[in-house]
Amino acid sequence: MPSPKISGPSNATTILTVDLDALAANYRLLLQRAAPAQCAAVVKADGYGLGVGPVGRTLHAAGCTRFFVAHLDEAATLRKALGGAASTAEIAVLNGLMPGQEKVFRDHNLMPVLNDLGQVAQWSEECRANGAHPSILHLDTGMCRLGLPPEEQRTLFDDPQRLDGLSLTCIMSHLACADTPDHPLNRQQQVDFAAAIKRLPKVDTSLAASSGIFLGPDWHFDMVRPGVSLYGVAPTPGEPNPMAPVVKLSGKIIQIRHVDAPQTVGYGATHRFTGPTRVATVAAGYADGYLRSLSGRASASIGGITVPVVGRVSMDLITLDISNAPAAQPGDMIDLIGPHFDVDAAADAAGTIGYEILTSLGRRYQRHYVGGTA
Ligand SMILES: *Cc1c(COP(=O)(O)O)cnc(C)c1O
Repeated sequence: MPSPKISGPSNATTILTVDLDALAANYRLLLQRAAPAQCAAVVKADGYGLGVGPVGRTLHAAGCTRFFVAHLDEAATLRKALGGAASTAEIAVLNGLMPGQEKVFRDHNLMPVLNDLGQVAQWSEECRANGAHPSILHLDTGMCRLGLPPEEQRTLFDDPQRLDGLSLTCIMSHLACADTPDHPLNRQQQVDFAAAIKRLPKVDTSLAASSGIFLGPDWHFDMVRPGVSLYGVAPTPGEPNPMAPVVKLSGKIIQIRHVDAPQTVGYGATHRFTGPTRVATVAAGYADGYLRSLSGRASASIGGITVPVVGRVSMDLITLDISNAPAAQPGDMIDLIGPHFDVDAAADAAGTIGYEILTSLGRRYQRHYVGGTA
């Protein structure tokens, strides 16, 4: 008799469900918003924590042919997930080109995003020695993080031969305040980028990520690069969210307590029950990415009833007051992130942004993919 599979879904106590059809729908919506610009996809950090393989294949099947990741190893993983060297999808590495990486870029058919004049020189030498291989040029217009700073851009305007033989497919920059539509830096960066690309070779240009798409057509240029909105997070905080929810997190109730006498729950005794209460313990905690700052601020949902998380979130467990959900039993699954409390609501409650909620989830949970091309 085969031994039961310990990691099988029936033994999972916490399940992250990823709706790949919703992901594909979000890609199509963003493509439509950005048209006639093209729409790339940013799938860094393992597809924002949701699994770069299924995420990448689903987006590719939805028509996306240009991908961005942060690290070279993420790019190699995505290349493999998309079918290896045979796949023609473009994969670009935002963190740029480090000395000695040239061959890896070439062997896996990956593109470096060239972030300074040193990288421009390094890639140009590589292309002279071993033949042209595509790359992207990144100009800094206000992030002061990656990309050619203004003085290096001026050097390039005066000496454009530095770009000869680089096989540039795109010139990009990145917005600092796109989630705050009336911030003056948005227009400033748009104007500075438009001026810079006039002085450089004519290739595709790209400025907007998720929030930038919703600033309007002036910010779209030839290609947009959304990440977080693909995964359902609101591109403009405080506005109605046009994106479909992609993730749901549910956890199993592993114990139920009946409390009669006044008593506290969890570390630090931060919550006190004053009357008769049913307490459910669920196997999810901060080690799973259910942030400790959600302590006493989150809610869950079971059978359509919303119940509060009470006391502190601990490493592997949370406790919920399920007094108003009398049907709940040990072994039942309870929704922790879902329509009642979505990624944006969790981010608000935890004092962070949807990006951090998403990328914190998913390392320890069992992931279930529904729809799409898993
Ligand atoms: C992460 C990132 C993106 C995607 O940003 P979202 O806000 O998630 O849409 C686009 N471009 C660059 C340079 C990035 O670092």
